Amino acid sequence: MGKMCLPKIAEDVVVSAENINFCPGPCNDTMPEPPPRMFGREAWHVFKPRDGGRYQSLHYPMPMGGRLILKNVRMCYSCYKRHMEFEDEGCVDYLIRDCERLMDKLTKLGCI
Ligand SMILES: [Zn+2]
Repeated sequence: MGKMCLPKIAEDVVVSAENINFCPGPCNDTMPEPPPRMFGREAWHVFKPRDGGRYQSLHYPMPMGGRLILKNVRMCYSCYKRHMEFEDEGCVDYLIRDCERLMDKLTKLGCI
């Protein structure tokens, strides 16, 4: 007898982060992004991407399968760096834990 497998029914959850003005990442911060600092004519945005644009999408694996996909997102430096490091190193467990934090945060703030 083979191992019994439960069917994977989890689907991706897509969150449009266009109107989210705080970092939706796993940090505790829910303050709106401060205005960019100006260096001469150049604006230094606090969140990434630094040019003030948005990442098309970032995703986190969810505990029950599927992915949490953030579309058009801006994120604080530390959350972004953390995400990239965990992805590079294949730390799926850490990404799943962060995903739980993210969902908590976004749920509390009424974004999902
Ligand atoms: Zn953050």
